[in-house]
Amino acid sequence: MDKLLREIPQVAKIIERFKGVYPEEVIKRAAREVTQEYRREIRNGLRDRTDTLLGDVEKRIRALLSTNLRKVVNATGIVINTNLGRAPLHREALEFVKEIGEGYSNLEYDLKKGERGSRNSHVEGILCELTGAEAALVVNNNAGAVYLVLNTLAAGKEVVVSRGELVEIGGSFRIPDIMKASGAVLREVGTTNKTKTRDYEEAISENTALLMKVHRSNFYMEGFVQEVNLEELSQLGKKYGVPTYYDAGSGLLINIREMGINSQEPSFGECLRKGIDVVSGSGDKLLGGPQAGIILGRRELLEKVKRNPMARALRIDKLTLAVLEKSLRLYLEGRYREIPVIRMLSQTEKELRGRARKLARMLRKLEVFETEVLKDMAKPGGGSIPEVELPTYCVAVKQKGMNPEELARRLRLCEPPVVGRIKRDVLLLDMRTVSDTELTDILRAFTSLL
Ligand SMILES: *Cc1c(COP(=O)(O)O)cnc(C)c1O
Repeated sequence: MDKLLREIPQVAKIIERFKGVYPEEVIKRAAREVTQEYRREIRNGLRDRTDTLLGDVEKRIRALLSTNLRKVVNATGIVINTNLGRAPLHREALEFVKEIGEGYSNLEYDLKKGERGSRNSHVEGILCELTGAEAALVVNNNAGAVYLVLNTLAAGKEVVVSRGELVEIGGSFRIPDIMKASGAVLREVGTTNKTKTRDYEEAISENTALLMKVHRSNFYMEGFVQEVNLEELSQLGKKYGVPTYYDAGSGLLINIREMGINSQEPSFGECLRKGIDVVSGSGDKLLGGPQAGIILGRRELLEKVKRNPMARALRIDKLTLAVLEKSLRLYLEGRYREIPVIRMLSQTEKELRGRARKLARMLRKLEVFETEVLKDMAKPGGGSIPEVELPTYCVAVKQKGMNPEELARRLRLCEPPVVGRIKRDVLLLDMRTVSDTELTDILRAFTSLL
């Protein structure tokens, strides 16, 4: 034991070894940590060699220098994957962020008048043009948008919502909770599976501020079910002079069938044409932009929402605004097919199969992994179109003597990390969310496992 302990070099020696390659402060910290760990392990009889020490110090230095937030290869096939950062962004939008972030901008400055301007003005006109809305406001995210709409239009009054739509979106976002936080009073109507126009109608009183409909987002109901659609709800609102609000969840700016997806999911524009007064949704779901909450609708209602002091607390940041404006402009220019989310969702089976075969060939060359190209079905993802499953192609990977959970875990610890999904006890790498250039990243990860 004493011999092993004596073999551990002094921290100063280790610093000398790595000096000039890494920052000295970082070498010092890594050297201290690793030599202490080695001493402890030797004393506890857990270590019988020290020749690995310099390698371990270098690994520690690299770990200390690497960022916590990292690029990940998403091989789950879930396009709108909230855990993995939702929408990847268009290259031009990112270049624009750099331009705006590097220096000053007219964020809240009217260049024509030489006086204070509004950050919302950079996207409001574009959103109105794309959706036919009279007015628009963008905030931090859709959770913030829901809160702001309810707080502005319904604090201290009642909001009528179907019992079939009192949903939890994920995290701590539950409709009854956000309603309570906003100061509005939830007036639930109907039943879990059936809600009729009459149910809303009977709940309307002088205390009613809003008729609200909520997208179910992460589940759907089948069978003995009935709900009031957007047209019926807006007609009812007009009949009684009560505004209607739809939390659309995902912000869709085009007809979803243009992506080859067979769904009735209405776009923002369709919701408004059906007579809904205010609609809101996320910027980073089907829209394919940055995290943002987009509120659209009738001018006099939006004016009130904009004047709410909480709008300041929920305001969008300039970097996000830059990405959002560029992403929206891609729609204006008819270039929305280039938006990564839309591109990934519109891929053909042939494209996906081709990529799966290519990856399978690459991995087979390593002569360690068994691969098989499989057709599968996968959901588009978080809070978008829960009733839809899309056909996709995957590479099923196996390694002899290793269970799929362990293989998946090792891949997650690679650089860059690769995240797949396990189905029926096999690790699948789904090609829908993997780009051609990421195939070499995946190959590199598997090579590092050898
Ligand atoms: C996703 C979602 C939200 C929350 O949106 P964020 O942009 O993630 O804050 C709210 N309501 C519905 C119906 C959703 O699907």
